[in-house]
Amino acid sequence: MRTALIDALTQLPDSLQSTVSEWLHASAFDATFTQAQVADMEAASGLSGAALRLALLPLAAAYAVTPISRFNVGAIVRGEDGTLYLGANIELTGVQLGQTVHAEQAAISHAWTKGATRLTDITINYSPCGHCRQFMNELNGAEDLVIQLPKSDAKSLHAYLPEAFGPADLGIEARLLADQTQGLTADDIDDPLLKQAVEAANISHAPYSGNYSGVAIETSDGRVFKGMYAENAAFNPSLPPLQVALIAANMAGYSWDKIASVALAEVVNSTVSHLADTQASLDAINPDIPLLYAGLRA
Ligand SMILES: [Zn+2]
Repeated sequence: MRTALIDALTQLPDSLQSTVSEWLHASAFDATFTQAQVADMEAASGLSGAALRLALLPLAAAYAVTPISRFNVGAIVRGEDGTLYLGANIELTGVQLGQTVHAEQAAISHAWTKGATRLTDITINYSPCGHCRQFMNELNGAEDLVIQLPKSDAKSLHAYLPEAFGPADLGIEARLLADQTQGLTADDIDDPLLKQAVEAANISHAPYSGNYSGVAIETSDGRVFKGMYAENAAFNPSLPPLQVALIAANMAGYSWDKIASVALAEVVNSTVSHLADTQASLDAINPDIPLLYAGLRA
């Protein structure tokens, strides 16, 4: 277990430390808390709902990978079924800052890769930046999303983002996290990792460019983490598929030195491409990581 998580445990209320420590030390811990675990923590600590999530924020921030800023942000999203998903910011050295992942994006896409289709709440240890407010406005159920910060009352996303610009302004009905499938096939692809990248592309959200795309990362011990492209009505806050897969790996406790190979699948008869940026980001992480590529036709 990473040192930052051990340090974060000591910042939890005393009543939670032994229970949470046991879960964290279990090899299957994947930076989520089930509804049953939340109930256990509420009973042990006397904290409920948002108060419990605020108390757990140091654990989320412990997943931050911040070689540039050393500024660790943690976020916890709550799915409709009560599951909590942690997230933290990720910075990549050697590429442009647009490749950065914010904690809110990490927690949201972490929930997405585990099948959540709608979120009720997000709890963050710092005020969400403008970029993240816009990213959250793309979500299925954005109009009901509640934001909780340590020293503010809970407020709706739209209290933080008045007069919002969003998908509806561009005539788009699809929303991030809502079930969608793009009908892309991998029939003529033999490589199993590329097939998984196609699976990710199939459930990606790219209604603006049509560049439905997905990444699959294979680790040196054989785990595979998939990432779907998450496009945004304001374009710049879009989250590339490599980043979503990196988030999934990071939240499962994998560091970049465990990445063995990566596959990218994307629709090529669209208006944008992830190939150059994916290659550049991987080169910055480790130029020896092979990148497999499949161009798909929508
Ligand atoms: Zn942000």
